[in-house]
Amino acid sequence: MTLRLCFIGMILFFSNRAISESWHEKVAVGMEVGPTGAQWGFSAKDDERYCDKMDGAEIVRKCYQANCDYVVVWARDGDYAYYNSKILLKAPGLKNRDPLRESIHEAKKYNMPVIAYCVVQQGGHYIEEHPEFLMYDLEGKPIYHRFCYNSGYLEAMKQIVDEIMDYGIQGFHIDMIDQGFGPPYGCACLVCKNKFKEQYGIEIPTSVTWDEAWKKFLEFRYRSSVDFEKDLYQHIKQRDANVSVDFNYHGNPPFSFEVGQRPVQHGENGDFITGETGIWGFSALTVGLNAEFYRSAVPRQRVQVAIQRGVRMYHDQTTRPLNDIRWELLTLCAHGAFVTMVDKLGFDGTLDPIAYSRIGKAFKEVKEKKPFFYHKPVYEVGIYFSSKTRDWVGREQPAHYFTAFQGTHKAMVYEHIPWGVLLDENCNAEKLKQFPVVILPNTGILSQDEINMFRNYVEGGGQLILTGLTGCFDKFGNIGKYLLEPLTGCEFVSRIEGEDNWVSLEPLQSEEEARLSIEIEHTTVNKEDYKNALTMPVLVKGPTGIFKSTTAQSVGKLWKAYRTQRQIEGKEGTDLPMSPEAVVGPAIFINQIGKGTVLTFACSPDYATGSEYALPECRKLLINAIRYLNPRPEIQITASTFVETVFLNKPDNGGYYVHCIAYVSPPQTIPQKNRPYILPALIEDTPCFRINIKTMRAILSASTYDKTTKIDMPTPYQIDAYITNLHEIIDLTVN
Ligand SMILES: [Zn+2]
Repeated sequence: MTLRLCFIGMILFFSNRAISESWHEKVAVGMEVGPTGAQWGFSAKDDERYCDKMDGAEIVRKCYQANCDYVVVWARDGDYAYYNSKILLKAPGLKNRDPLRESIHEAKKYNMPVIAYCVVQQGGHYIEEHPEFLMYDLEGKPIYHRFCYNSGYLEAMKQIVDEIMDYGIQGFHIDMIDQGFGPPYGCACLVCKNKFKEQYGIEIPTSVTWDEAWKKFLEFRYRSSVDFEKDLYQHIKQRDANVSVDFNYHGNPPFSFEVGQRPVQHGENGDFITGETGIWGFSALTVGLNAEFYRSAVPRQRVQVAIQRGVRMYHDQTTRPLNDIRWELLTLCAHGAFVTMVDKLGFDGTLDPIAYSRIGKAFKEVKEKKPFFYHKPVYEVGIYFSSKTRDWVGREQPAHYFTAFQGTHKAMVYEHIPWGVLLDENCNAEKLKQFPVVILPNTGILSQDEINMFRNYVEGGGQLILTGLTGCFDKFGNIGKYLLEPLTGCEFVSRIEGEDNWVSLEPLQSEEEARLSIEIEHTTVNKEDYKNALTMPVLVKGPTGIFKSTTAQSVGKLWKAYRTQRQIEGKEGTDLPMSPEAVVGPAIFINQIGKGTVLTFACSPDYATGSEYALPECRKLLINAIRYLNPRPEIQITASTFVETVFLNKPDNGGYYVHCIAYVSPPQTIPQKNRPYILPALIEDTPCFRINIKTMRAILSASTYDKTTKIDMPTPYQIDAYITNLHEIIDLTVN
């Protein structure tokens, strides 16, 4: 017995040691370096110019000099291996050289971890040579650039990772377990067809049906990806438990069901989660959102985010200005991520020394500021994300749902309200309790279990905000029975077709209406006409319903828009908003339950804020609701909308580190295509800006990272700072 315990103790000791020594636990910055020229697959197999000068040792040396904590070296893509493989074609220019071996040999000198970049899902020579692994669409036609995860490809992948592990790498970055980014949808190959019938007793649908059969098929697709991830992970761990595995994640917006990933189900299958940001595909604002989304998907793991060196995309041979790199890097670190900068070599494999010098400067700054990152965030508002609504209300236009979620996030950032992400798959009472306020942005589908969870949250003192058509859909994404009445104190009457809805508020009506009208100029015009309800309505674009109060207090008025005769006849659309015609119901409902309050918007100020009609008034409406429900938050900030603030608790809970990051993109010119949808200009400037911070606890001391920042303390509960840098850290010790 004692011996057995001792043995278990030894296992625990060694496995703990192995875990505590994992390279990814304490790192902040690293680089991923790979070639340019075969990224689209099917490149010329005899083009010996390709990777002719790719030098593994030089890659590692340059990364070490650029202050990297680790390096991710390209080992395999859809066309080639970049090492001596018995299974895969080798990049033609490499001839007898082996960059993976060179990298590992060089990295030993610096004690630097080498991670192998390894592709799973990419078109190219390998899939061309292995048609037996092809994915098939619903009509039974092969999808020539996608692998089926049930085809036997997993066994081939295991042989590939075995080869790479023989080199003595410290980890794998696996890119990526997707099933495509739009139609055609798979997989309906013979293997999948049989497997599906065995599991569900029916055939795979032959078209997109959004019914019970489609529900089963979505589950089948999700399960195919998860099983592949888990099996590959186990295989690697069984060979060497110290080799890390992370999968490039695609569970967050703008990705949806088509990719075959759910936020939590496909986030938690590696040792840590890895996602991507970058203006090229995600917007400036979602840099922080992506990091927090990943964090919420895998609360017990670290978060890695990949960004790119190039000004436009991963594969261009350009380098962003230093301030542009700093902004993205420091934003991500403030949101708790460690960051991998992706560099692509020239076609022949040469490195650009300017890039490494610039990235090295940015990385040096992160390392110096590292004691101020990676602490527990302060949260006020939890933004709820529903994978069910994404799949079944969003369907093949998921952006319609994402706009409400993203608009809520945008409002929080612009107004400096500390926020976090809550995910339907892993949300529970304990998580909700971290947030004084929770917002359900157009969460169309809510199960009875979710409704009960929110009811308990509110009864215990939580504050809940619902917008638009939250809870108005059944599990298949059709307008259904409204189960929320006991919570919201109102009944759902009908959905308003079109998104050009208007809201008016009259501050003299009630204290509630006055508090929800703050900073909305429309509510203060025509003061003499208040009694006649002649205030000017404001456009709140987005999904809207007509609701009727049962127990809730009604606030404000909801207006439907005019429809021209041509619109009524269906000859004109309603994309361009039409002016307000008539009041159709209340705009807001306030319902007390236990110690908390539920505030329901019949309209969608969240969606409006994320839309092309992002009026500041819509944002204020949402913010006023938060301040109405939570008038005395722990910390409050006033600063310009271009400044993002991130609040972290100091380790001893003695105060806060407030990260202030300015996004100062200058004006952009007319784009060549898709006018007026411009990409923001690169950040070159070092800005200056003011910020005011109010705290509930008295401030004992305040200091800043930059010596040039001026601070005043007008009262013991607030400070004013004048910052002359793109990033600043304000260190507050409070009572
Ligand atoms: Zn298949």
